[in-house]
This record gives sequence, structure tokens and C-alpha cells, in this order.
Amino acid sequence: MKIALIAHDKRKRNLLNFVTAYKDIFNDYELFATGTTGKMIQEEVGLDVHRFQSGPLGGDQQIGAKIAANDLDLVVFFRDPLTAQPHEPDVTALLRLCDVYRIPLATNEASAEIMVRGIQSGWLDWRNVKESTSLYDE
Ligand code: PGA
Repeated sequence: MKIALIAHDKRKRNLLNFVTAYKDIFNDYELFATGTTGKMIQEEVGLDVHRFQSGPLGGDQQIGAKIAANDLDLVVFFRDPLTAQPHEPDVTALLRLCDVYRIPLATNEASAEIMVRGIQSGWLDWRNVKESTSLYDE
């Protein structure tokens, strides 16, 4: 299973705390992140992370491309709902692609906790069937 981790600046500390709390679970999976988020996870939590560009420089779009290629299984995106982002169109596009391809998406600790516990319990095992499941296929 491949998990993407992203946090806007004011939410990065929350994501780091969350990833630290569930480090043993995250350690079992392949992790991807936008640039700054990934760097902080590597340095502060000590997990291996494949880092894309920083979000404002295209990282969200790179993660979106992996979703479109059916190559990501879960997105944890602690977005900041109170601050305008220069790359808002990219953020919206990423959230949209999660829905197009039915990729589980958690945007805060409450939903992320359920999904991370769920992945351990096999609730996302259906993702191992590697067929594309976009809405377009219906
Ligand atoms: P960052 O990008 O991890 O490089 O800060 C996150 C974002 O703002 O999308």
C-alpha cells in the first residue's frame, strides 16, 4: 500500500504529531509526500519518504498524477481551511482526483485515525485489486 502525506504550513505540526503517534503503522507502508512535509517527516519522525516538489511548486499535481495512474492507495492531507493558498487550484484538483478514482482521503486527524487503523485491519485490502476504479469506467 502506498500512502501520500501532505500538510499545509499551519497544519504541519499536527501531521507530524499524527505520523509520530502512528509511526509503527506508517513504517509498514510506502510513503510519499510533498517536499517540505516529506522533509520534516524524514528528519523529525525518521521515516523513509519519497519526496515530490513542494506543494506550491507542483507537488500536489505530482501526487495527483500518481492517483490518476492508480498508484496511490490512501491520501492524508491536513489542509488548512482558514488560510488562502497560492496553489489552491492544485489543491482542489488533488481532492477532485481522489473522488474520481475513489481514493480514501483524510483531511484531518479524526478521519485519518479511522483510515490508518482501518488499513491495519484490512479495510483497504480492496485496493490490492489493481483495476482502475474511476467514475469514468461506469
Ligand atoms: P509542502 O507542500 O509539503 O511542500 O509544504 C504542501 C502543500 O502546501 O501542498
